[in-house]
Amino acid sequence: MNDTLGHSIGVRLLQAVAERLGQVVPTEGARVRLGGDEFVLVVQRMRSRAELAALAEQLVARLAQVFDLAGYRIHIGASIGICVCPEDGDDVETLVRNADTAMYEAKQRGRGQYCFYQASMTENAQAKAHLDQLLRLALHSPELTLHYQPLVDAQGRPAGAEALIRWNSPQLGLVSPAQFIPVSEETGFIVPLGAWVLGEACRQVVQWRAQGLKVARVSVNLSVRQLEHEQILQTVREALAETGLEPAALELEITESVIMTSENALLRLRELADLGVTLAIDDFGTGYSSLAYLRQLPVHALKIDRSFIAGIGHSSGDEAIIKAVAGIARNLGLRLVAEGVETDLQRQYLIGHGIDELQGYLVGRPAPAQEFSRLWSCVG
Ligand code: C2E
Ligand code: MG
Ligand code: MG
Repeated sequence: MNDTLGHSIGVRLLQAVAERLGQVVPTEGARVRLGGDEFVLVVQRMRSRAELAALAEQLVARLAQVFDLAGYRIHIGASIGICVCPEDGDDVETLVRNADTAMYEAKQRGRGQYCFYQASMTENAQAKAHLDQLLRLALHSPELTLHYQPLVDAQGRPAGAEALIRWNSPQLGLVSPAQFIPVSEETGFIVPLGAWVLGEACRQVVQWRAQGLKVARVSVNLSVRQLEHEQILQTVREALAETGLEPAALELEITESVIMTSENALLRLRELADLGVTLAIDDFGTGYSSLAYLRQLPVHALKIDRSFIAGIGHSSGDEAIIKAVAGIARNLGLRLVAEGVETDLQRQYLIGHGIDELQGYLVGRPAPAQEFSRLWSCVG
């Protein structure tokens, strides 16, 4: 906040926050600023958790009211973590640490929330910290590799490949990206990790081509933190420049929920599209797309979420969604891709409904680069 509004306003806001806290907290309580924008409140003689919860609600409500400072109207939101002495710790250090853990949990739940500490939160946080630590060590080591999954067009001709990260940890075994990507999102490690993925995927396509394999396009997944980080443009530019891959051969996949909730997504997608890369909306149908918004986005492809594909043949609801998405893609002039295609029935159905490209176990499983090239030679 100090960075965006100037130092003096920041200091005045902190003072105003402290003042409001004082108005709500009982007189025998203590207030301490921990540093940054974190405060610790110590309240005594609370009779029950319900009484603590009521106090937390009051604090949240009071801090949600607008601050009027030197002509600036400032909205802030508070997240509150609560721990109880002696149940949750009997020394200051433990209590502050546990309250902090609970506050982090509250933050995760969104603005203006409070949360009581639970021992499981510490276990969870420790497990994540451990995972993050091991993952950092794995970067640029053989533990991390990319697998590639083929995409084919409706005639079964090769169309491209999606790069999917794999982590084989000596300590943890094979860890699913569905597990470690969200953790690296939280810690910010996704930024260097994602940069490695981009560079490696581009390098691999260039290498394949040099070996005579005609891979027209590689798709790379981007997560929200990467999209929001200003470095992304430079990272994509570098991956292309360093490998010599033409921008049109790189497709970036961004999930629908990220596009719809990220504040500067539209601007960022336009900047990326200006580099000449193509953009696809991943897991389409699971988010809450505004069609008016979708129309403005510089995207080139929609990937229908595999949960709908799984419903083909026995869920009329899923089939209705597939038909609706196909209609949207056709009308907006977007390439339509199905992921998670496992059966011939699904393939036939999708082709009958105007699918442009198919991806899934039926076509080929994600495989290491070498194995992929063998598979690709058979498809092509
Ligand atoms: P996604 O981008 O939707 O990727 C498709 C997922 O579906 C992959 O899971 C793939 O292995 C799986 N899949 C493919 N065909 C089939 C099929 O026929 N049936 C079924 N049941 N599943 C199929 P995976 O590799 O575990 O990746 C999970 C998610 O992790 C990805 O979902 C993507 O969101 C994320 N991810 C993977 N690699 C990266 C990466 O390098 N960067 C980022 N930011 N995210 C990644
Ligand atoms: Mg994807
Ligand atoms: Mg997907």
